[in-house]
Amino acid sequence: MRATPGRALTAVLVALFLTLAAGAGPAESASLAGAAPTPPSVTVGGQPVVWDVPPFMTDGLLVVPLKSLAEPLNYTYQWDSTARRTTVKRGAREVSFAPGSRRYISEGEGHFAGTLGKIVDGRLCVSLRFLAQALDVSLTFDAKTGVVDLDPARPYTAVARKPRPGYVAYITIDDGPAPDTPAMLDVLAKYKATATFFLIGGMAKLQPEMVKRIVAEGHALGNHTFHHAHEPKEPDWCLRSVEAYIAELDACDRLIADITGLHPRATRAPGGSWPHLTAAFQKALDERGYVDFMWNVGTLDWAWPRPSPDQMLEEVVVRSWNGSMTKPIILIHDGVSKHTQTVEALPAIIEYLRYAGYTLGTLP
Ligand SMILES: [Zn+2]
Repeated sequence: MRATPGRALTAVLVALFLTLAAGAGPAESASLAGAAPTPPSVTVGGQPVVWDVPPFMTDGLLVVPLKSLAEPLNYTYQWDSTARRTTVKRGAREVSFAPGSRRYISEGEGHFAGTLGKIVDGRLCVSLRFLAQALDVSLTFDAKTGVVDLDPARPYTAVARKPRPGYVAYITIDDGPAPDTPAMLDVLAKYKATATFFLIGGMAKLQPEMVKRIVAEGHALGNHTFHHAHEPKEPDWCLRSVEAYIAELDACDRLIADITGLHPRATRAPGGSWPHLTAAFQKALDERGYVDFMWNVGTLDWAWPRPSPDQMLEEVVVRSWNGSMTKPIILIHDGVSKHTQTVEALPAIIEYLRYAGYTLGTLP
């Protein structure tokens, strides 16, 4: 059936209302977002906003030019051509958005911004909903009039998003414990989020207290071999034979058990399971009660030069198919070398996963 314009507009307003008020995930609104809908009117304290460029819908979100809202909200507006960021500022509150970024920065911390910042006719456009959140300004949608109002006199009300049944995201953190582990644990604790730490035995041996902290804070442990010799050209490559691989896992398992009393079932092959972990390896893992977990969402945070936090978040969004993958297993690293960019990216990654309706789980 072809949708009439009137019906399409109604559908859009309903979708917007759901997105604004009830916390619908991207999946619910995606089909409607593609219909090139007419955006609703926006007012600030009841006064209509005069737009530099017309608002539009993306990913089920209303996207607006930032500059047009800065003035009525009494924020200064500044484009920094070196940093390629736009900063809006009022008193002590300072928030910046950037083109091509799905994060905004507030008080030095990166947060999920819903949509990618986009330049239209020279103006940076961002999600209205996330802008209201960033500036702590209340946002209400009147379904009768179809008007969205921002009220600077009232704070933003966060709406708890409903988890989608069956959608579970697994954050997995490889190669530690390492110098960046405490910072990652702090972020996870702040968000009441859980993750699975795939430990290298040799690293765990150096930092048993950190292993205990990971467990004490409710996270799961995984076994990532004792020596992590992951290059096929290395003589002690851990996947050179079934016996060698099981010996590596057993050595790591003994150490983890010595420190914590736990025997993690989850294992991960250094460098990944594919293509070396053949049926013979799988059979041996089964017999020992181990379960191999490859990742299906990478962040490229192992690469040099390191990707930016913006790029890492984008990898997670794109590789989880914009939230339509049922069980993303996300790979990030706390070791072997520095991963400060990953620590920086983690808050926005968690916020994105929850926005998309995922519950955070641990393996196995
Ligand atoms: Zn590894």
